[in-house]
Amino acid sequence: MDVLPISLNIKGRACLVVGGGEVAARKVALLLQAGGDVTVVAPSLCVKLSSLVSTKRVAHLGRAFEPGDVVAKVLAIAATDNESVNRQVADAAQQQGLPVNVVDRPDLCTFTVPSIVDRSPVLVAVSTGGASPVLARLLRARLESIIPSSYGHLAKLLEGFRGQVKQKFHDTVSRRRFWERILTGPVAELVFSGREKVAAEALQAAIDQDSATQTKAGEVYLVGAGPGDPDLVTFRALRLMQQADVVLYDRLVSEEILALVRRDADRIYVGKHRCVHTMRQEDINQSLVRLAKEGKRVLRLKGGDPFIFGRGGEEIDTLAAEGITFQVVPGITAAAGCASYAGIPLTHRDYAQSVVFVTGQLKDGSVDLNWRALVQPRQTIVIYMGLVGVNIICNELIAHGMGGDTPVALVEHGTTPEQRVLVGTLASLPDIMAHAQVSAPTLIIVGEVVRLHERLAWFSPHKHPSRDEA
Ligand code: SAH
Repeated sequence: MDVLPISLNIKGRACLVVGGGEVAARKVALLLQAGGDVTVVAPSLCVKLSSLVSTKRVAHLGRAFEPGDVVAKVLAIAATDNESVNRQVADAAQQQGLPVNVVDRPDLCTFTVPSIVDRSPVLVAVSTGGASPVLARLLRARLESIIPSSYGHLAKLLEGFRGQVKQKFHDTVSRRRFWERILTGPVAELVFSGREKVAAEALQAAIDQDSATQTKAGEVYLVGAGPGDPDLVTFRALRLMQQADVVLYDRLVSEEILALVRRDADRIYVGKHRCVHTMRQEDINQSLVRLAKEGKRVLRLKGGDPFIFGRGGEEIDTLAAEGITFQVVPGITAAAGCASYAGIPLTHRDYAQSVVFVTGQLKDGSVDLNWRALVQPRQTIVIYMGLVGVNIICNELIAHGMGGDTPVALVEHGTTPEQRVLVGTLASLPDIMAHAQVSAPTLIIVGEVVRLHERLAWFSPHKHPSRDEA
């Protein structure tokens, strides 16, 4: 180790910043965040620093640096663009035994400021000892993505219960086990999903219960996995995927996404293929209940968003009735994913002010939709599950007054390497499809916005580099 990382308490303590530009302003902001009492020495100030001075958040000495400025300070930062001033600050500070940082001059620094992931009171600091601040920032970005934003809330909640837990569990081992159980169970998840009051009650109940008879409560995560590209999974979805004991997934969840689930989690396929149901909906609902009651962390992973044509509502209804803890994680729905990856904005000031999502599923050989409501000017229609009924859908829209030349796009396997976009009109699409060997899943987008595809398509999947087939 070349340096020693420490956490310095500067609350209410005098800090010196020499320099009045943007860089100095950033350093001042950081010191203020940590509660420092900041004095800026600089003949002139940038707009940001001026406003901090005028609102009395920092003190200002409007002149050149003098060595005496370092007296009675706890740290000094030099951020001027004048080499000799920076050196004077470093020398003066070191004579006083004061930690000093000179921006971009590691050789003059006795301390550097790490990149910080702030989940106060939890802080993660990344330092490269000044070797590569950019590397530290990149690493920080990765940490930001895996540490839930509400870690700080969790730490505060636990802090409030430390005394009680110490009294209840006398030896350190049982205390540690207790905290581990809390941190990997529903209490932590309740905090992360914004239910702090319930979390506090659950934590209290866990403490009150006799530890020997404590049964581990299971929970269910109803998670949207997005339309296919694993990069479109949310941070929260990924975290829950990595802590589940068992996963129930359906056909739309791609293999790449399934690979993100904790390796030793049990995998149960409950997929549905039009008519062929591997597991009946009622059985899925009951399985979720049974597994959670066995104390498992159950991941119900669904394509797209669980609340959009996903029966997510039915599944959690059963859980709610049984009093099982659950949370719902939204996913990028096929409409949003396919539209983006096909370069078709679903709304656009010149073409469409509204967008409707409908299901084109066939019932008794017809598609049961409110056609009149769909055939509206300046409205985009997105049709899920419309592959089998596509001819009926195009015909009905024309029969209800939509022009046969209205542009239509059919997005097949959207957001994946197999994505293909077929573009035509209400009149021509059935014909185009007859020659294109289309396979599910596909999404149909109807409306003037489809015209933008030609200009805005940006995603070129490996399998179909020639974007348009029609
Ligand atoms: N809950 C899902 C939708 C489930 S219904 C969501 O929010 O996206 C299943 C339908 O979604 C499919 O028939 C198809 O119309 C659409 N769909 C899902 N993923 C798709 C994809 N990658 N490309 C095209 N359509 C898709």
